[in-house]
Amino acid sequence: MNIKNSLPWFSSEDKTAFLTHSKNILESGVLIDGQYTFNLESEVRNVTSSNYAVSLSSGTAALEIILKYIHCENREVLIPNNTFISTLYAIQNAKGIPILVDIDPQNYCINLKDFISKININTRAVILVHVAGYVTEQIEEIQKICAEKNILLIEDSSHAFGAKYKDYKAGSIGFASACSFYPTKIVTGGTGGGLTTNDKGLFDFAMIARSHGTDRMGINHFLSSNWYISEFSALLCYLQIKKLEMIIKKRNEIATLYSGIILGEYSEHFIIQPINNERIHPYYKYIVGTNFIVEEIVEYFKSRGIALGHCYGIQINQHPSVKDKFSEIMPNSLNYAGKHFTLPCHLGLSLSDAQSVIELLGNFVKQKNPKKYYRKVGKR
Ligand SMILES: *Cc1c(COP(=O)(O)O)cnc(C)c1O
Repeated sequence: MNIKNSLPWFSSEDKTAFLTHSKNILESGVLIDGQYTFNLESEVRNVTSSNYAVSLSSGTAALEIILKYIHCENREVLIPNNTFISTLYAIQNAKGIPILVDIDPQNYCINLKDFISKININTRAVILVHVAGYVTEQIEEIQKICAEKNILLIEDSSHAFGAKYKDYKAGSIGFASACSFYPTKIVTGGTGGGLTTNDKGLFDFAMIARSHGTDRMGINHFLSSNWYISEFSALLCYLQIKKLEMIIKKRNEIATLYSGIILGEYSEHFIIQPINNERIHPYYKYIVGTNFIVEEIVEYFKSRGIALGHCYGIQINQHPSVKDKFSEIMPNSLNYAGKHFTLPCHLGLSLSDAQSVIELLGNFVKQKNPKKYYRKVGKR
């Protein structure tokens, strides 16, 4: 078997459409800031139910633009310890002070209690990461606290394109949100990202920020960077967003198969993010928590051609680049870091592949607990 943990996937129809439209791009000579960048924005607005969307070169660019706009210089910005490194350095690039928050042991998103304890008069914003596409059920309370304390709620929706909990749609829950179109994400353009907001001021700022801070007349208003998305990347994203419903449905079929077996047969060995029918979970990652030694499971799968992953095996305060700056011990986060893995979950995986994957997990458990799962020879 050769099963990757994540894989970008394109239908043959999309491959043909990509070539046809790419020819249009080449012939038009408009390689950035054209029709596809514009079309992508309209799709992103739709998916997130936002008033404004700006297509960008990456999700990180979106975070940086939002953080610069809200003026977090010398102000504290709270982030969960379980996230990708750019959630952290976007704050640094905007001259803010990153403050780490422990995670919830059930859903791996931000820990409500620790979040509340970290708030002070210098807190400017909190960045929520919808881990693996899971919008926390504490969102209502978090929103309320932010309003009371005058803290801006920002979403890092990089995992959560198309995600929803009750009426809370990722991308339009807070003041602004970032989405990513990196190759492993739900929708990809190779590179790419998007900023969504209902704030006209931020929208105007972002439109100029992506072109060095310079407007269409060539006048520079502030020093920024080149954060344009290429028309080719925008096109690729655009084509996939048209299929977002199908993409999420397929990922859920795989996840449902996994969850059925794990909850039905192996719930004493593994835990998964809570399931309920009030949410759309796009399953960017299918996370499994366990007390088994994760390296052993990873090796067991690897030797059979299946790649397991993590989300995130190294938490922010464990990275060598920054660990000296963060001395606080975060028990939930550290416990989670070494005690989870992710099962393959993507459109390159057939349901029978997924069946093999979950059977293999069962075999691992049985081999570890022969007394429980295999009857002794000769015994009826
Ligand atoms: C992927 C990701 C990013 C960065 O997105 P890019 O488009 O690669 O810049 C930021 N935050 C999280 C949580 C991510 O998973």
